[in-house]
Amino acid sequence: MGQLLPGKEIAAKIKEEIKGEVERLKNENNLIPALCAVQIGENPSSAMYVKAQKKNAESLGISYTLHTLNQDIEEEQAVELIQSLNKDENIHGIILQLPVPAHLDAKKIINLVDPRKDVEGMHPENLGKIILDKARVLPCTAAAVMELLSSTGIDLYGREVVIVGHSEIVGKPLALLLLNKFATTTVCHIGTADAGKLVEHVGLAEVLIVAVGKANLIKGQWIKDQAIVIDVGINRVEGKIIGDVEFESAQEKASYITPVPGGVGPLTTTILMQNLIRLIK
Ligand code: NAD
Repeated sequence: MGQLLPGKEIAAKIKEEIKGEVERLKNENNLIPALCAVQIGENPSSAMYVKAQKKNAESLGISYTLHTLNQDIEEEQAVELIQSLNKDENIHGIILQLPVPAHLDAKKIINLVDPRKDVEGMHPENLGKIILDKARVLPCTAAAVMELLSSTGIDLYGREVVIVGHSEIVGKPLALLLLNKFATTTVCHIGTADAGKLVEHVGLAEVLIVAVGKANLIKGQWIKDQAIVIDVGINRVEGKIIGDVEFESAQEKASYITPVPGGVGPLTTTILMQNLIRLIK
């Protein structure tokens, strides 16, 4: 029976460290870490993230401001706002809330954020540094997965690691981080599933990380005995949040497994704040 990986407890430990750093910055440098979020248009899921980010930031002594722009703004207005935040010495981190309205190009806007204020770790310069194993900050979810793996004490050197999902925010950066640790890293995606090879790859994983967004996609019986299972997926089913892995049957096989909710999620938001402190330092 797999042991639960306590995302919340690990997050609480990191938060204590952040509080200490915030105190030190205040006392020694007279500096209050400041995050600024930019939200364009109305979106219920971004509204939820903004609320959580604000609560999290303020509980750590970090200042949080939200700039809202109208749904129908011209690209130029978003560009001007980002440029002014880049110049503002009292702002240390910028978050662009996604999605942005369809007429705007989110990537183009992210690329305008000063990489030294890119708390989400999604600027191409920061992503590129991962290849060189010289990252300034990491994309939050990928970093959360690495924290959870580290909490198990596993040495990733030579381990068979399978990631299901190859998104830019999770699967791709994670693959690089795992390669930097000399894990034998396989990345599966929709092409793998369509080729009928998903079950075979999942069965080889000593460490399985799933970030797809399809409830109960991965069945417990596919999973190798004693595997470590990290479920990044968030799916709302009949009013409940569940992951991409069929939890009960997977827990029977796994040595460690993340709960959903309470696994990767709480760590992701905490790492956003940790990134802010890293960028300031
Ligand atoms: P995405 O939608 O950008 O990409 C999905 C990936 O899954 C793609 O690589 C796609 O090819 C693959 N895929 C789709 N169907 C598949 C199938 N049947 N078999 C195998 N692969 C398949 O995903 P994302 O933005 O990385 O998000 C993935 C999930 O993780 C979502 O549920 C999202 O809500 C969640 N998420 C959670 C956190 C967190 O903090 N816990 C953060 C980010 C994303």
